Amino acid sequence: MIDIEILIIGGGPGGASTAWKLRELGHEVLILDKDDFPRTKLCAGWVTPGVFKSLEMTPDEYPEGLVTFDQIHGEYFSPGKAKPLAFATTQYSIRRFEFDAWLLQRSGAPVQKHTVKEIRREGHSFIVDDTYRSKILIGAGGTHCPVARLLFPVTNARTAPYQVGALEQEFPYQWKDERCMLWFGENGLPGYSWYVPKAGGYLNVGIGGFSEHMRNCRITLRQHWDHLTQKLQESGMVENHDWKPKGHTYFVRQRAKVTEDRNAYIVGDAAGLATCDLAEGIGPAIESGILTAHAIHEGRSVDLSGITRYSALERGWKASLFASTLDRNGTFFRDRIYARKYQKKEDAFLAAATASQKLNKEKAGASIG
Ligand SMILES: Cc1cc2nc3c(=O)[nH]c(=O)nc-3n(C[C@H](O)[C@H](O)[C@H](O)COP(=O)(O)OP(=O)(O)OC[C@H]3O[C@@H](n4cnc5c(N)ncnc54)[C@H](O)[C@@H]3O)c2cc1C
Repeated sequence: MIDIEILIIGGGPGGASTAWKLRELGHEVLILDKDDFPRTKLCAGWVTPGVFKSLEMTPDEYPEGLVTFDQIHGEYFSPGKAKPLAFATTQYSIRRFEFDAWLLQRSGAPVQKHTVKEIRREGHSFIVDDTYRSKILIGAGGTHCPVARLLFPVTNARTAPYQVGALEQEFPYQWKDERCMLWFGENGLPGYSWYVPKAGGYLNVGIGGFSEHMRNCRITLRQHWDHLTQKLQESGMVENHDWKPKGHTYFVRQRAKVTEDRNAYIVGDAAGLATCDLAEGIGPAIESGILTAHAIHEGRSVDLSGITRYSALERGWKASLFASTLDRNGTFFRDRIYARKYQKKEDAFLAAATASQKLNKEKAGASIG
């Protein structure tokens, strides 16, 4: 049996930042992860300035590839028209393959490759797979975290209405268009799609939608993906690429969050903390890890209420007022921005698809004749 003061399951941003802060505060930790690092993590890898602030560093100090965007471009689709968008802002793109391995190494914590299956309480300790024993257990295993599943099945229910489904592909590509692009609600997608250039000649393309509305949609996520990739090809933004997307789901933040139970804690996606507007989860994973580490060290309850619920709203009284009035349940963006009139937008897309199919058939018929 391996005895350790604090065992952390998962070495992603949530686990690595919890370990980093706990070690700094003088605690002994061990991280278990099912994968060897560096490992692939499906993610657009878009990070806000707040991420570097939480990590107590400047973006210039990040040693791996980083692209800085001073503007985000895109379009918001209403029925029958698309409104171009351009926000002046400072945002960054990283590759999760590099970022997570660097964050883990920076934590200085020992890491063992191990897939956690079983967890039980024995007295005041946790026994993991009959191999590891700890007084404190942190669940940082993402959406399928065994700590969340086994120890928080009811108190941290991450319910379907808050689920996001996403498809994406990151691949080596000498992009020519250096803009970061977002397309909101195109063809009735209750979510958005993205094109994010990365340093070192990589590109990330993806699409995500809220499951709550996706399940009523007539156009599937995969069909939206096909439309997106066709658009990128036709516009010349991505040429001659063999598209092979992969999918993943995770959860945006609900109002009430229980993240601790008798020395067991959950952070990051295990607790379902991504922002309610853009579904960004790297920042909340890091913040929740750091806040949890401080609470453990000081022997008090964890308070995650200060973690921002929005990527696009500055932290402060405006965001707090918005959260406590218009967006008490964290569904404002989901229902009133992304899913707004989605059926009408779908109608237009489906009508255009039928017309184009008919035209193709007629052309085929004419060429045979
Ligand atoms: C397609 C897509 C695009 C996204 N884009 C963005 C974005 O641009 N910006 C942003 O901020 N967020 C984005 N997110 C969300 C973001 O990726 C997550 O919120 C973030 O990774 C959460 O970090 P985490 O540490 O909680 O979990 P993870 O990064 O998922 O790490 C969990 C770790 O636990 C390990 N693990 C799991 N189960 C076990 C087990 N049984 N035993 C041992 N180890 C285990 C895994 O191997 C993994 O390393 C995106 C998500 C998706 C799916």
